[in-house]
Amino acid sequence: MTVRVPLLIDGQMVQSQSDKFIPVTDPATQNVIAEVPCATEAEVDQAIDSAKKAFETWKETPVGERARLMLRYQALLKEHHDEIATLLSSETGKTFEDAKGDVWRGIEVVEHACNIASLSMGETVENVARKIDCYSITQPLGVCVGITPFNFPAMIPLWMFPMAIACGNTFVLKPSEQDPLTPMRLAELFIEAGAPAGLLQVVHGTKEVVDQLLTHKDTPAISFVGSVAVGEHIYRTGTEHLKRVQAFAGAKNHMVIMPDASKNQVINNLVGASVGAGGQRCMAISVALFVGSAKEWIPELREAMKKVRPGAWNDPEAGYGPLINPAARQRVLNFIQQGKDSGANCLLDGTDCQVEGFPDGNWVGPTLFSGVTTDMSIYQEEIFGPVLCAIELDSLEDAIELINANPYGNGTSIFTSSGAVARKYQHEIKVGQVGINVPVPVPLPMFSFTGWRKSFYGDQHAYGKQAVKFYTETKTVTARWFEEDIDTGVNTTIQLK
Ligand code: NAD
Repeated sequence: MTVRVPLLIDGQMVQSQSDKFIPVTDPATQNVIAEVPCATEAEVDQAIDSAKKAFETWKETPVGERARLMLRYQALLKEHHDEIATLLSSETGKTFEDAKGDVWRGIEVVEHACNIASLSMGETVENVARKIDCYSITQPLGVCVGITPFNFPAMIPLWMFPMAIACGNTFVLKPSEQDPLTPMRLAELFIEAGAPAGLLQVVHGTKEVVDQLLTHKDTPAISFVGSVAVGEHIYRTGTEHLKRVQAFAGAKNHMVIMPDASKNQVINNLVGASVGAGGQRCMAISVALFVGSAKEWIPELREAMKKVRPGAWNDPEAGYGPLINPAARQRVLNFIQQGKDSGANCLLDGTDCQVEGFPDGNWVGPTLFSGVTTDMSIYQEEIFGPVLCAIELDSLEDAIELINANPYGNGTSIFTSSGAVARKYQHEIKVGQVGINVPVPVPLPMFSFTGWRKSFYGDQHAYGKQAVKFYTETKTVTARWFEEDIDTGVNTTIQLK
């Protein structure tokens, strides 16, 4: 019998009473490995109610105790690192190396959450007026909600609930219905680490469940990561319901290649950044801008891309795994066809990719287009597959102008040996995360994940100090104490002016 993924409500793993289930499939074989329920309205209400009740106690829990929960959780995640990565590979198809990276980047955020006491310190100014002090304190919000995508089922839930809970909130997570097993394992380990019942709830489902979470009177803060269409819906609906929302959305990330860059570095890094994880990363490079004579490297880039082949998660030779589902594969194949129809040169075509022993996998081979123009759909849309578009330009200024005209602003990188070029680029580019000779510039958790423009709706970003701002309210206290109240036995009446 197929495994049914439970809900986590009030500290208990429970089976949903729903009659609607979605199959969870292995993307390399289409074998159904589990079924995930679409939680009922009553179950979602129950999860929120339990989180609300738990908040009353948790918000009073000393910060050191909250930090120690995160320390225990970090140790358990590390202990189970490879086991979680194996589970993650089985439901996403990611190579084991890639899956380990997904888990590890999440663990780093838990480590950051251990530092919650320092992170949540307020500010004080003594004598804002004579004998009057002013200070700020941070207080948690209540029940926070997280809605996560399929492509990082460990890292992205771990961006959210550890920081929210360390701040004194409780949390309801709605993971992607496509790979819920990894987030459930993360939740089990959180309980094993000693999280009191109700701190973390997990409900499953799709739009209906998300909309209930978004509009519920007792969910003051919503964190979302996913596609731009859904992100806009989440941001609009959440803010219409007067909630605090952060919505991380889609991307189209450009790499600028200057002729003074190291050719070998460019080619090695560009191959990994474009086709790694099958291009299913919000920070993947999907457009390469070759400036001036750098375009002469395109044939070598093609040869390097051609050597990368997809394969099963436990195949050590595989460069990346299958796409998440057949519809995602078909969508990518449609884009490849549109690229050809619109006149781009398809230098490498991954359409007919086969992997021996896995005839039903969602495979797409590395694909490279040159001669791409900004009016083509392969340039305008996020493809989310192993497809790289090369554009040839005359100058750095042309590259900056092109990127700044693109609506997305998640990540970008430049490869150059000139400090002046790099400095100009970092200053003028309207993208929130910039790599200088670094292809996928994902900030570590002491900084925040700072996508811009259509890649992010909201103001406070994930992890770093900004997450603490997002998950707390600041209270400012102005205090005066009357010295005549000091019981010294002496008259010490002093007038405050
Ligand atoms: P998705 O938008 O399809 O799903 C994300 C979440 O929203 C899932 O939990 C899903 O169940 C829910 N959802 C789907 N349709 C919904 C609807 N109509 N109403 C309410 N909720 C709905 O995204 P995905 O395919 O799982 O993930 C890939 C996308 O996520 C890509 O666009 C990628 O760029 C983006 N992403 C962005 C970042 C970032 O930090 N900017 C990080 C990772 C992924």
